[in-house]
Amino acid sequence: MSNVPPIESVVATLVAEHPLFDAHVDALQRQLDLGHDLGVAGPGQFDLERGRRAGLGAVVLVCWCDPGYIRPERGGAFARTVALLEQAHVLARRHPARVLLAGNGADVERAHAGGRVAAIPGIEGGHSIEDSLDKLDWFFERGVRVMTLVWNNHLAWIRSCQDGAGPGIPEGLSEFGRGVVARMNELGMLVDLSHAGERSFYDTLDCSAHPVMASHSGCKALHDHPRNLNDAQLRALAARDGVVGIVFHPGFLDAAAREEEARVRASDAYKALGGGDDTLTFTRQSELMQRTASPLPLARLLDHVCHAAAVAGVAHVGIGSDYDGILRGPQGLEHAGCYDRLVDGLLGRGFGHDEVRAILGGNMRRAFAAATGAGTRAGAGAELIPLVAS
Ligand SMILES: [Zn+2]
Repeated sequence: MSNVPPIESVVATLVAEHPLFDAHVDALQRQLDLGHDLGVAGPGQFDLERGRRAGLGAVVLVCWCDPGYIRPERGGAFARTVALLEQAHVLARRHPARVLLAGNGADVERAHAGGRVAAIPGIEGGHSIEDSLDKLDWFFERGVRVMTLVWNNHLAWIRSCQDGAGPGIPEGLSEFGRGVVARMNELGMLVDLSHAGERSFYDTLDCSAHPVMASHSGCKALHDHPRNLNDAQLRALAARDGVVGIVFHPGFLDAAAREEEARVRASDAYKALGGGDDTLTFTRQSELMQRTASPLPLARLLDHVCHAAAVAGVAHVGIGSDYDGILRGPQGLEHAGCYDRLVDGLLGRGFGHDEVRAILGGNMRRAFAAATGAGTRAGAGAELIPLVAS
């Protein structure tokens, strides 16, 4: 008989002692628009119950405001973001034994010690602050600890990674944009550079006083997609002690998978699901995509983790699934109940136990603690201004 423990017990021990940190999840809009409770198992790609069973210890729950809401007749970006943020508070109030809204690294450790998931409210897209540092402060006081500076829509103070920037859009970060980064540093918010243009990326690294992350991106060397980071960016991020969260979206990870998704999106069956509520449409189209597109093997995601680790160093790689913001996951990582399969996959690529712990949680915990613990308002996690009545 061998003394080597079975792989199942190695995985269970690794995730129980060192919970995973998912740096980007988009599920709040399902709870707001469709009434789904993210504290119980299913439907959709992400919920705390399936995640916790698969080893999740901390998650950034982002408020993604569809730019369509910027229009005054739809209420504006700030109001939509407030409604999404309120859902994070609802979740914590509804499931106090399972979730803790975490404001800093100490809160994350406190959640782990109590067997709870640390939920970190985030904002995806600087349009949510409507060009106002007062609104940024307002969000911070109500729990927001991460902001992705820009989404796919360019802003007057920062360029996105997408084409089509018109006149008036800066090459990178404007003076006001530098002020946003400085204020985030001062408050204790983690800056997220996924979706940022290349010049915006470097401008932010230049002016941020604390480590930053790219929460949900892949490696451009493996798939030349505008949302991915090239090797020079990976090295620059590492040089500032930042972390890249490898995204689960097959269309970012692999050129053939992207073509396959375009094929499904062009199908009559896919188009027939459109037309109603945007979140309902997205959820139904995601189910169709997951079911009908030819699967992307999990090995391809591991290729991106290995490449990022080789270029930036193991200490600068994490995970950022983008669950419920992506149309499907790779084979074997279809939903939050599958996180623990990454442990087996990473061990199979030759990473040691300490390296697996770092990639799946430790590195992001370090970046989050560094950015939030350094602010003037450090410790505010336990003193949030409530968004829902007790
Ligand atoms: Zn995104």
